[in-house]
Amino acid sequence: MIESPLLPHHQNYIDGRWMDGTSGRLLQVINPATGELLAEIPEAGPGDAARAIESADKASRVEHSLEERRNWLKNIHEGLAEYREELARIITLEQGKPLAESRAEVDYGAGFFRYFSEHIEHLKPRDISVPGQPNQWRVYYRPAGVAALITPWNFPLAMFGKKFAPSIATGCGSVTKPASQTPLTAIAVHTLAERAGLPPGQANLVMGPGSSLGPMLCSHPSVRIISCTGSTETGKTLLRLSADHVKKTALELGGNAAFIVLEDANLDVAADSLMINKFRCAGQTCVCANRVFVHETVIAGFRKKLVDRLSKLAVGNGMDPSVQIGPLIDSFALRKVKELVDDAVSQGARITFGSLPEVPGESWGAFCPPILLEDVTDSMAICQEEIFGPVVSILAFRTEEEVIRRADSTPYGLAGYLFTGNPGRAERLAAQIRCGHIGVNTGSGPVPDAPFGGMKQSGLGREGGLEGLFEYTEPQTVVSRS
Ligand code: NAP
Repeated sequence: MIESPLLPHHQNYIDGRWMDGTSGRLLQVINPATGELLAEIPEAGPGDAARAIESADKASRVEHSLEERRNWLKNIHEGLAEYREELARIITLEQGKPLAESRAEVDYGAGFFRYFSEHIEHLKPRDISVPGQPNQWRVYYRPAGVAALITPWNFPLAMFGKKFAPSIATGCGSVTKPASQTPLTAIAVHTLAERAGLPPGQANLVMGPGSSLGPMLCSHPSVRIISCTGSTETGKTLLRLSADHVKKTALELGGNAAFIVLEDANLDVAADSLMINKFRCAGQTCVCANRVFVHETVIAGFRKKLVDRLSKLAVGNGMDPSVQIGPLIDSFALRKVKELVDDAVSQGARITFGSLPEVPGESWGAFCPPILLEDVTDSMAICQEEIFGPVVSILAFRTEEEVIRRADSTPYGLAGYLFTGNPGRAERLAAQIRCGHIGVNTGSGPVPDAPFGGMKQSGLGREGGLEGLFEYTEPQTVVSRS
């Protein structure tokens, strides 16, 4: 069992109190690298979720000044910085990613508390005068109401932080439901939020399966925002469940990123960027390259650079500092990767580096080495679905028009990457790719200071930046006769 100063309670947090859930079931948290049982949490049921929502609603109705909210954000930011190492340890133990990546995740997640504390002034009312009209117009940015924050297992701190920080900044009470595989990080951050002085009810935490808690979160009339990061299928379910109440939805969903290496690219920069982009979290990120399009004239050179780099990656327990690729989240994830690769091979693709491991009988220990797959074609399932594993699929292309059309041919539109030595060409092509995030000569993902989100079926709304702040507000316009 895990021991941590940030985990004094393995419980739900409702109305300022740590408590067991009433579902009668225990949520078991397993280390995906070792199979160790880290915690058993008495799961919340729909009744607990309803109590959490009512408590958040009550808290949302109490007005707190911008200064007070800024202080909460700053205090949480300080807590995250102080406990950086401990939070990173918790993330690696429950999620599996290498410790260095977990530290980077803590820094990234903490950045949202820093950013929104620095930009909270933007929530001040805005005055408008209309020429020729005697009336005065004032726009208030009211808290939208209770926010249900539903988060995935791949970034248990960062994906929560980017929702939680703006909910605090805007004065929305929150009810968080973390992924069942990784609830401990959310408990740790709520412990820090409690110590930061957040009033009871402002932040609530319920843990249990989405299928059991989701209907309550989506149908309770006091919940006004559903913010979820997860798969596109889950996003569609939440849209359907919340339609009757016409709730605001902020959905960060699946991706199918095209990584395009044009013939004039610096191949070392492209290969280095792909390594960072593709193997973070063992390839289980929404922004990682799913399809690597390489111009046919540079494919041999690019491939050689890639193989040199792939051979240096070590797979193992993320607590070992020499490891760059931790386990996949569970054996179901490995089975899915294996099915996609087997399907591609059955249709003519070739594995030219690495080999597929056996799927373990247990849910844990799903270690997958880096795999290079060549002669991949667009119609294969591996190009249509998220791989969510350390597999690089290479596709050849001949012309610029062709690669842009192929890159944009999926229902997803989250991230894309262009590698070229010509900045004008990059600018022109970026405008033609329907993605919310484009990297030019970099595989970098989002930062707290800029909006991030998907087009098409990759989502609705934005997180980070001022856009991510206003998602949690309802502008109210008051007109007064002067
Ligand atoms: P998931 O299976 O969709 O789960 C995400 C969250 O939704 C979990 O907390 C899950 O709870 C909950 N959930 C599932 N069904 C629900 C329902 N009916 N009602 C309420 N909640 C429900 O996704 P995942 O496997 O955790 O994460 C991987 C996916 O997230 C990938 O598709 C990835 O691309 C996407 N992602 C997107 C972004 C982005 O910024 N666009 C970032 C990271 C990840 P339980 O699992 O506990 O049931």
